Amino acid sequence: MRFSFVTLFPNLIKGYFSESILKRAIEDEKIFIDFVNPRDFTTDKHNRVDASMIGGGAGMLMTPQPLMDSLNDIRSKSPNAHVIFLSPVAKPFTQNDAKRLAKKEHIVFVSGRYEGIDERVIEAQADELFSIGDYILTGGELASMVVCDAISRNVGAVLGNSDSLSVESFEESLLEAPSFTKPKNYENNEVISEFLKGNHSKITDLKRGLALCKTKYFRPDLYKKGITHEK
Ligand code: SAM
Repeated sequence: MRFSFVTLFPNLIKGYFSESILKRAIEDEKIFIDFVNPRDFTTDKHNRVDASMIGGGAGMLMTPQPLMDSLNDIRSKSPNAHVIFLSPVAKPFTQNDAKRLAKKEHIVFVSGRYEGIDERVIEAQADELFSIGDYILTGGELASMVVCDAISRNVGAVLGNSDSLSVESFEESLLEAPSFTKPKNYENNEVISEFLKGNHSKITDLKRGLALCKTKYFRPDLYKKGITHEK
């Protein structure tokens, strides 16, 4: 699977892929990444990619031409490219989106900077838009890394142990149950005794109960959804 990042600041993103699971996924050719800088496409004689807002407003916007030419160039070489704009003015990205998008052949992330992007580019080019939460970042690069990371985990064989995907938070609208590792007793704080007894069906039941409690406490919205699914 290929990911392209359309960004004025590719170095912000490159480092993230130089360590750990995603580094290995690139080395093993399970995922491919590349970068397109709209500044390389600008026809402005001063290399500008931003301008003040028409109709007034504080700050600058990314202008249409460099982004449109960048994206048209990508689409001409990759007709199945799925173009995602990162924006606080969008639906929130979820685990279901991550799973759905993991089946795509090529995803292109477009990161805004300044006060964002001229709306005409979004209208012409966006196959989908995502927000990563109700707050404002300085640019879309972090958001694109978040979305790319979550999708990559669902691309076949990127994770060594695919079992871990099926028991994670958000499966069946539940948060994951509490987990423990060595030592059994850490500074007089013991793990739940049932976990030590080796009765796996009892442990599974207990974990489900704990997952329900945790979800009800931390995410009553998800809990409600899960209960509705179970009916
Ligand atoms: N003026 C915009 C507004 O009020 O909606 C905010 C622009 S923000 C400073 C610049 C860029 O950061 C956006 O174009 C977008 O790409 C990215 N961005 C900021 N917050 C985001 C979020 N919560 N989710 C996804 N992208 C975000």
